[in-house]
Amino acid sequence: MIVGEQKPLEEIFRMLSGHERILVAGCRSCVAVCHAGGEKEVSILAEALRLRASLANHPWKVEEITVERQCEREWVEAMGPLVKGKDAVLSLACGVGAQTVQVLYPRIRVLPGLNTSHMGAPDMPGVFVEKCGGCGDCLLHLTGGICPIARCAKSLLNGPCGGSQNGRCEISPEVPCAWDQIVRSLEAMGRSDLLEEPIPPKSWLTARDGGPRRTVIPTAVISEEQRKMKGERP
Ligand code: SF4
Ligand code: SF4
Repeated sequence: MIVGEQKPLEEIFRMLSGHERILVAGCRSCVAVCHAGGEKEVSILAEALRLRASLANHPWKVEEITVERQCEREWVEAMGPLVKGKDAVLSLACGVGAQTVQVLYPRIRVLPGLNTSHMGAPDMPGVFVEKCGGCGDCLLHLTGGICPIARCAKSLLNGPCGGSQNGRCEISPEVPCAWDQIVRSLEAMGRSDLLEEPIPPKSWLTARDGGPRRTVIPTAVISEEQRKMKGERP
């Protein structure tokens, strides 16, 4: 899931200055799980904005909506009636969701209410840890199901480095050494032999460094004509 955190309130207030009719829009998926942009957070933030408006004499009129997934145009299209007449949408989705809203409503300012942090998972209640860097060329089969790209501070493919001590990373005793975890995981599955095969240098062409990435599912692609028939915008 994508993990995000709400921007500081003062930053949100500053972004909204100069706007009047505001829609706070949340997402019920990833960012709801990490307590950043679900229905509850939308409601609390909308209320904080109304309070600020009345205390600071701002002309803000604030409405709210939370959709299932802000990254999918079908859900975002359903926001249409509420977006109409607004001059700003404060998106509490990740950056993908906020950009989807902007594409569908190009005349309205879409403002990011969250900082999109990483792709992670809940490790324990209230703690989310980055687990994947989205490198586009997964090698978990070689590393016991533990990602060295995202979880090793140095993204080493043949670790551990000399700074690993007692299973902890040198950057902080709170950070487990990913390569210590990889060794243990491979031992547990009886595949320590994989450690003896060096992982060759990785091609980063599939990673972010190669520019914006794109995934095409040929069987799900529909023709331009079919899209027009469905009334979709290009
Ligand atoms: S917009 Fe999509 S990717 Fe982003 S938080 Fe919502 S469901 Fe996840
Ligand atoms: S190897 Fe790449 S795709 Fe696989 S988990 Fe790590 S960053 Fe993600």
